[in-house]
Amino acid sequence: MIQVNRNAKPKVLEDNAKKWTTNYLAAKKEYEADKTNSAKKNNFKKAESKYNHEDVKLALRNMFFEKCAYCESNTTHVSYGEIEHFKPKSKYPELCFEWRNMNFSCEICNGKAHKGDKFPLENENGPIIDPVEENPDNHFKFIYDKEWDQAIVIPIGARAETTVSMFKLNDRKPLYEKRTKRVKEILIIKTIADKGNQEAKNLLESLSPKDEYYAFIKSIIQST
Ligand SMILES: [Zn+2]
Repeated sequence: MIQVNRNAKPKVLEDNAKKWTTNYLAAKKEYEADKTNSAKKNNFKKAESKYNHEDVKLALRNMFFEKCAYCESNTTHVSYGEIEHFKPKSKYPELCFEWRNMNFSCEICNGKAHKGDKFPLENENGPIIDPVEENPDNHFKFIYDKEWDQAIVIPIGARAETTVSMFKLNDRKPLYEKRTKRVKEILIIKTIADKGNQEAKNLLESLSPKDEYYAFIKSIIQST
């Protein structure tokens, strides 16, 4: 997880968020008063789906360099990626169209088994770390553990622990295997660069926040 700067609010939200929110809250109220009514349900779902506008998704995709806000995996070569509401729309419907409440996420991190509509509060060791409003480097260490032969996320503090456990950042085998492989490659390049090899130095210098698992890469590059 790396800190990401929020870019400008897409025009479609600038123009419509207020109206969409009003309609959505009204449709939600009507549906909740009569959950068996399929027309009301459709109306509610339609009002809700407005946030999933292609301009909004494109803006988020660019903002997060096409990577998941939480696990930092590249998403767009295999899926569309998802608009993730930091404060879930089911609990905070008034924030459904709020630009500052939207992040870009892979479907696994955003899915029910992980974040879903969970939002632990302070008394539940939350909230989770917000990769836009906070610097994840203040809450996690991203290290390669030689003994485990694994690139792992070490949480610092209760909120960070909640975050790691919610997204199962150290327990999703396909995730940590892919991440570890990349981290080990970077470690080798760093060793060669430290011996003075110019090509290896150039390669390290070419890496940027656009790269997958950059939180780990950064911590390797900065290590002496
Ligand atoms: Zn993810």
